[in-house]
Amino acid sequence: MLWTDFFIPTTKETPKDATAASHVLMVRAGMIRQLAAGIYSYLPLGYRTLRKVETIVREEMNAAGAIELHLPVLHPISIWEETGRVAAMGDVLLRLAGPDGDWRSQTVLGPTHEEVITDIARAYLKSYKQLPTNLYQIQHKFRGEARPKSGVLRTREFLMKDAYSFDVDLDGLDRSYQKMYDAYCRIYSRCGLPYAAVEADSGAIGGDASHEFMVLTDAGEDFVALSEDGSYAANVERATCRAAEAESDPPADLAEVHTPGAGKIDEVCRLLKVTPDRMIKTLIYVAPATADAPATTVVALVRGDHEVNEIKLDKAAGRSLELAPPKVIEELTGAAVGYAGPQGRDYGAVRLIVDRDVTALRNACSGANRTDYHVTNVNPGRDFPVSGDGVTVADIRNVRDGDLAENGSPIRLRKAIEVGHVFKLGTKYSEALGASYLDANGKARPLMMGCYGIGLNRIVAAAIEAHHDDNGICWPVTIAPFEVLVVALDPRDAEVMQVATTLHDQLAAAGIDVLFDDRNERAGSKFKDADLIGVPLRLIVGKRGLKDGNVEVSVRREEDKRLMPAAEALRFAVDFVGQASAGG
Ligand code: ATP
Ligand code: MG
Repeated sequence: MLWTDFFIPTTKETPKDATAASHVLMVRAGMIRQLAAGIYSYLPLGYRTLRKVETIVREEMNAAGAIELHLPVLHPISIWEETGRVAAMGDVLLRLAGPDGDWRSQTVLGPTHEEVITDIARAYLKSYKQLPTNLYQIQHKFRGEARPKSGVLRTREFLMKDAYSFDVDLDGLDRSYQKMYDAYCRIYSRCGLPYAAVEADSGAIGGDASHEFMVLTDAGEDFVALSEDGSYAANVERATCRAAEAESDPPADLAEVHTPGAGKIDEVCRLLKVTPDRMIKTLIYVAPATADAPATTVVALVRGDHEVNEIKLDKAAGRSLELAPPKVIEELTGAAVGYAGPQGRDYGAVRLIVDRDVTALRNACSGANRTDYHVTNVNPGRDFPVSGDGVTVADIRNVRDGDLAENGSPIRLRKAIEVGHVFKLGTKYSEALGASYLDANGKARPLMMGCYGIGLNRIVAAAIEAHHDDNGICWPVTIAPFEVLVVALDPRDAEVMQVATTLHDQLAAAGIDVLFDDRNERAGSKFKDADLIGVPLRLIVGKRGLKDGNVEVSVRREEDKRLMPAAEALRFAVDFVGQASAGG
């Protein structure tokens, strides 16, 4: 491909507010162009890489026995109502606008396809003899992301590979899940991504177990907890650590202390001369009424140096909680916000959820339920219950850097990009949509399901996050838009053009994706563009080198340049690409 025949609008301009390197470099390299917030066009160079990722994903899915199909983007909202996910999805579910009763107002854009695939399963997967089956597609998803950001890392329209497995039972699901997990590992390795598989929360999808595939980089929005010995890895949303050891000091008498104007932990600590780990934070939540349960107030306790993990808290409560408005807090405690404590209250109508580490404390401090006062020597079990009706003890806090994993290894928190997610769904969707098969005894059973998603655009951006330098992208060969770049330094020189054109043609004939920079530009700007677009191997043909019969060969990721005759450069390039594609 000749540069002058292709379309590579590189630019020096950096998008405003861009923080992620992938965002800046994709725009500058002429790979993408933003049309509106969270909506991007893929320009030819960007599209080539996206297609390469797509090919790798498709090859590995097929190799793992999954079967490709294609599902619609437009869904009748009725199918989302069948699973009750219209509410769970909230604003993420995008609807077409139309007058009442019109088909448009009853239609949504698919943010994911569990409902649609389960509709197919209920129609066709009727016998155990058809199982296991795994169906997948590569399709655009539409989500009303509130804060699209970082270029194509989080957009409102994106390309996802989503696969769905159907099995007779849990053992079957475990096998299907493992196959997808292994296929995902191969996909990321082939894309040249340094990744970690971590335990994950299952979110709105529900189900029993899931793993996320993460690329560790500061551009990520997720946090993962990794133990130093490498034995534990989990998304912070669900990561747990070793519980604090129970303290053994003898309980002293409760004492009220005047702490005027000190409604915040650090202010109280200064006045009481204690560290935040001696404090009990009392947070008040409300559980709005649902079809099955009335509205309830929930008191949650964590240590002063810990943060509540609302996903864990909701799980412990068995329902979705919201922080209580000041009025509710003031009514419950009889004090201004900032002075709540767990002591001196009947739990039952008001639920109490205590973090494990709070139960280990002796003679702690908390709010006094009286404005401008705190109490010292608060003791779990004596001053507030840790068992009985309406009381739950659970792990409801976020792990912190330095906490210990269960095996004692220190936990480190790292930022990461989620590039894929595998879930064991169980029978959540098959039961909601009535998708059952007949077992060997003719008995109807719900299909056992798993689902497996990969964000293709995120792989592209995450690969850039992992592989770039100050000058531009350093593509892994497997997903580079072009594998080899031939640069003619003096395009007006007949010999230079002849040697460069021959190299280009020979490489193309050898099946290599080769780009030929035949532009009439200064060498400096050609080198700048070459660095920016990140083609892994460069063959530079110039008058000076040719005098000695040489072409300059340089690898994008290496400093070294080598000189060799054109025929040798050709062999070098073919070997380089061959080895990289084979994983070498
Ligand atoms: P996130 O937590 O980042 O919002 P998610 O958990 O909602 O993602 P899934 O529903 O698990 O995402 O989707 C599967 C994959 O699709 C993700 O692992 C990610 O790679 C990709 N993906 C999800 N949302 C987006 C988005 N808004 N833009 C680009 N890719 C996305
Ligand atoms: Mg996810």
